[in-house]
Amino acid sequence: MQLNNNTQIIYKLENHLNQEIINKFMNLLDRANKIVGFTGAGISTDSGIPDYRSKGGIWERFKPVYIDEFLRSEEKRILYWKRKIELWADLKKAKSNSAHNFFVEIDKRKKLIGLITQNIDGLHQKAGLNSFLIIQLHGTNLQTICLQCNKIYPTEEIMALIDIENGAPHCSSCDGFLKPNTISFGQQLKHQDLERAEQLVKICDLLIIVGSTLSVQPASLFPQIAYQNGAKIVIVNLSDTPMDEYADIVVRENCTEFFNSIF
Ligand SMILES: [Zn+2]
Repeated sequence: MQLNNNTQIIYKLENHLNQEIINKFMNLLDRANKIVGFTGAGISTDSGIPDYRSKGGIWERFKPVYIDEFLRSEEKRILYWKRKIELWADLKKAKSNSAHNFFVEIDKRKKLIGLITQNIDGLHQKAGLNSFLIIQLHGTNLQTICLQCNKIYPTEEIMALIDIENGAPHCSSCDGFLKPNTISFGQQLKHQDLERAEQLVKICDLLIIVGSTLSVQPASLFPQIAYQNGAKIVIVNLSDTPMDEYADIVVRENCTEFFNSIF
């Protein structure tokens, strides 16, 4: 595959006069009509949501509960819910930041055709982005689902009622096990979400990636698909990614600082 010979200009705001990179970015925005966003944990860290999979993150400190363990063991369900209760406090008080708001602004300009996120924090919705534009590849913590009848509850409601010392919560309709509506370890991503995401990156003319290291599939595939279909690519992420060489602009910086200077 022919790589973008325009790239390898990697911007760090501290080293650069911001104006040059901002102009280049605005230029891409002006020319694009079908923008897709792709976001990962890094977009939410400044909102107070820790990156659970990063070094020292929760999945390093605690052994994850796999879906089959959840289904067969009350002890594991209680353990799983206790962690969710601990994380809920962070989630409830988290506010969207300039990077989330950026995509709302792009939508107002009628240029956003979709936003794919690996995050389960609901902050794109909190920022005011239309839900129908958002594909949550890993589900959402804001909903809880009955694993038996698929009834959906607001997690807020379950958290208010939960009495974890007396057991994991059950569905009020069918008594099935309740679990936050996220993709757990051992669970597959939803086929329809992956298909929709793939369609979007195929037809977009600009893919803006924020806060993802793009190190796992399918995340790593989306920039390649977009690139192969002729889209421009922007990557805003603190560390390098294996896809940097495909990008027209790589901003290796804190994403809220970058997007603060955009609109
Ligand atoms: Zn049920």
